[in-house]
Amino acid sequence: MNIPHLPIIYVAIGLGALCVVGIFSELRRRKFGPAHPEDRVFRCTKCGFVYTDDADVDRSRCSQCGKLNEPIVF
Ligand SMILES: [Zn+2]
Repeated sequence: MNIPHLPIIYVAIGLGALCVVGIFSELRRRKFGPAHPEDRVFRCTKCGFVYTDDADVDRSRCSQCGKLNEPIVF
């Protein structure tokens, strides 16, 4: 194998793996999407403000103080 081309091959494999992971997570999100149409509930860890955001966002910014918060898991 040609040594100078190895890093390019590794990068290509890495990008391919990222694409596969992205496709699978997207499929899983679509699969669970209709089952949980309700918005995610967030509780600000800084000011305690409780609010909702779209179900497909992992972190949401508090509208009161601007802090990024994780969704509450029931
Ligand atoms: Zn806040």
